[in-house]
Amino acid sequence: MKKSEDALSLEAAELLEVFQWSCSDTVCEGKQDKIKEELADVLCYCILMADRCGLDMDEIVQVKMKRNGEKYPVEKARDSAKKYDEL
Ligand SMILES: [Mg+2]
Repeated sequence: MKKSEDALSLEAAELLEVFQWSCSDTVCEGKQDKIKEELADVLCYCILMADRCGLDMDEIVQVKMKRNGEKYPVEKARDSAKKYDEL
């Protein structure tokens, strides 16, 4: 049996494969069922990993979003793909 870390990586690759050749990461039309399936796989492995590490998913996401907001202030980062140290 694969380790959950390997499985997470493989499922993320399956999700990305849905968008391969679409020339965009936002084209979802006609792919909703496959996206739902693969996204659910990724989320399940993330939840499993968090559970095994004793982490609260809501808490770690909120902490990360707060940190991102500090690193990427809206007035500097809106419509920009620059890394925080380039803003
Ligand atoms: Mg899958």
